Amino acid sequence: MSDAARLNRLDQEFVWHPFTQQQGWSEEEPLQIERGEGVYLFDVDGNRYIDGTASLWCNVHGHRHPDLDRAAHEQLDKVAHSTMLGLSHPGATELAARLVEIAPDGLRRVFYSDSGSTAAEIAVKMAFQYHQQRGDTGRTRFIRMRDAYHGDTLGSVSVGGIDLFHATYKPLLFDTLAAEPGDVDQMEGLLSAHEGEIAAVMMEPLIQGAAGMLVHPDGYLSAVRELCDRHGALLICDEVATGFGRTGTMFAVEQEGVVPDFLCLAKGITGGYLPLAATLTTEAVYKAFLGAPAEAKTFFHGHTYTGNPVACAVALANLDVFERERTVERLQPKIALIRRWLDEVAALPGVAEVRSRGVMVGIDLGEHDPELRVGHRVTLEARKRGALVRPLGDVVVLMPPLAIGETELETLLDITARSITATLASLPATEHA
Ligand SMILES: *Cc1c(COP(=O)(O)O)cnc(C)c1O
Repeated sequence: MSDAARLNRLDQEFVWHPFTQQQGWSEEEPLQIERGEGVYLFDVDGNRYIDGTASLWCNVHGHRHPDLDRAAHEQLDKVAHSTMLGLSHPGATELAARLVEIAPDGLRRVFYSDSGSTAAEIAVKMAFQYHQQRGDTGRTRFIRMRDAYHGDTLGSVSVGGIDLFHATYKPLLFDTLAAEPGDVDQMEGLLSAHEGEIAAVMMEPLIQGAAGMLVHPDGYLSAVRELCDRHGALLICDEVATGFGRTGTMFAVEQEGVVPDFLCLAKGITGGYLPLAATLTTEAVYKAFLGAPAEAKTFFHGHTYTGNPVACAVALANLDVFERERTVERLQPKIALIRRWLDEVAALPGVAEVRSRGVMVGIDLGEHDPELRVGHRVTLEARKRGALVRPLGDVVVLMPPLAIGETELETLLDITARSITATLASLPATEHA
């Protein structure tokens, strides 16, 4: 039996995959990714694929970047893990200072965790506790966007709004208010109707990734910031997906000159190497948690692997590479290339809409019978042609590593277009109505 066949048998017997209907999964041969090099991933049979979704939206400078590899190795030669509870370490300390330096002015405190979900959940808990400790005890509610996604733990699911993922858990969640993305008047209405009740407004700035790459109109973010100030609510910006260059600037909030009260970071922070997250906040929020131990104003939250030293070392190296390779500056021609390509793709028969912001791309193939799994079929077609893409329902998503070369990017775009065309042509005739 080949190694791939043996591994697949074990996988089908013992593994339960995230966001995966296992019934369909066990009917297909899973791909076993063994190694990576630059923007390519290789399976156990040695087949090469372009990593079209940056290994779920997190890879930045490619796989096996020598600087990032070296940072991990060097830290392993010192210590793999200690703890941030009651101790500190050089990597977490240096990284906090670096993050504050590159974050919008005013964000001055860094609280570490290890995933986007926890970064979001921490912001929610901090915002709530902040108001409580200032005596503004009526501020207990949160406004979130329609179709919001902030992760999979119950707190972050509570501020979520994607029914397919979240509706099942409703009895376990706290109640939130849904804002219509882009509708400033409606946001103002919510804040006015619930005057003094809103702890925070939470949003992904500029573009909602998991919602299917929903792009907000220009000016919405800054209008929400202003409304939050006027109504005494805090603003939580979840940049787990948009952060670290994805939208064409280091952070998406920069594009509207907005400083949120909380900035949630994860995915790209280690260049896609290791689990690490950070929730940044202001000195004003931080100060509300100061007091004598007996006052119990402490933020009682902390995960075992919070601020892991290897992850922090790689995150520091990642920030160095951002500077040395001018990653964000060099994105501009690639963004232009994607835009030109999207104009062509938008004209393909069967493409309902194309949406993008920087290097976050969604190609909406419109309404189809879910049984047909149109988005998934595109994935299988792309795989045959040497690229890995993962859809959100019937929205084909492209999120390559930011450091992708223009030639490789062209290949990825070409494979994607051909895979979409092949998929749409293979659908039953009734689907072409
Ligand atoms: C991916 C994502 C999360 C969750 O991050 P995990 O590391 O998967 O827990 C939260 N918010 C946004 C905007 C995301 O894209």
